Amino acid sequence: MRIIRTVAEVREALVEPRGRGQLIGLVPTMGAFHAGHLALIGAARAASDLVVVSLFVNPSQFNAREDLARYPRDEEADARTADEAGVDVLFVPSEAEMYPDGFDTWIDPGALAETLEGAARPGHFRGVATVCIKLFSIVQPATAWFGQKDAQQVAVIRRVVADLDLPLEIRVAPTVRDADGLALSSRNVFLSPEERAVALALPRAMEAGAAAQADRRDALAAARGVLDAEPGLTVDYVALAEFDVPTLVAAIRVGSTRLIDNVRLDGADS
Ligand code: AMP
Repeated sequence: MRIIRTVAEVREALVEPRGRGQLIGLVPTMGAFHAGHLALIGAARAASDLVVVSLFVNPSQFNAREDLARYPRDEEADARTADEAGVDVLFVPSEAEMYPDGFDTWIDPGALAETLEGAARPGHFRGVATVCIKLFSIVQPATAWFGQKDAQQVAVIRRVVADLDLPLEIRVAPTVRDADGLALSSRNVFLSPEERAVALALPRAMEAGAAAQADRRDALAAARGVLDAEPGLTVDYVALAEFDVPTLVAAIRVGSTRLIDNVRLDGADS
């Protein structure tokens, strides 16, 4: 695996493989790899000739400074993990490489980006969309891989890719969960054991919603009931979203940690 830090070197490294007709798969990440990232990388590996993983904690998608400052980072461990997972190129740009002095162009993704996560984190999807479009432009992949865990992110990126006629396919891998049901997230490390026990209401609420939907009961009411019954958490939102498919989505706070989860209501893998 090659670790590359500049845009120019990534472009250069991909010229020859692209010329040979190799299919390039891109997995954008912010690092602190867990099994969710590995599942995405594995899916990209299986569908591509060459896998590029980007590792960049994108400041423009954080609105809280403390959240950015405390985001977990371990490039060395990530590089080992990526190498073992069969990644060909690990692209680790600096902030100055992605946002050099004078940088002043942003992708503004519209109504879908204003609700739910977008309402809770103003500017979040503008930052996500901008960095993803830059990565698509740098790597020019045939496919880019995203997790269902961030369902609204998938919907926003699909919208942007369609609206800008970008020549790549967005592929989605199901959410990977710990044995207790909690969706894997780089932020889970911040949960104390007590907080983690409280946070389990989130996957339970998603399950209750999906079960209610299967019984033709009210999925939203079922999920809300589970969250409301757990006094240790604050509900940011719980809602039915019309993404590509109807999706039950929720965000909660437990202590200083914010967690999101979702479940597709069409019965497919979430
Ligand atoms: P992040 O590094 O958190 O920005 O995540 C990078 C990619 O991994 C995004 O497309 C996420 O949706 C995806 N991802 C994060 N957590 C999970 C998970 N538990 N299961 C599947 N994909 C995930």
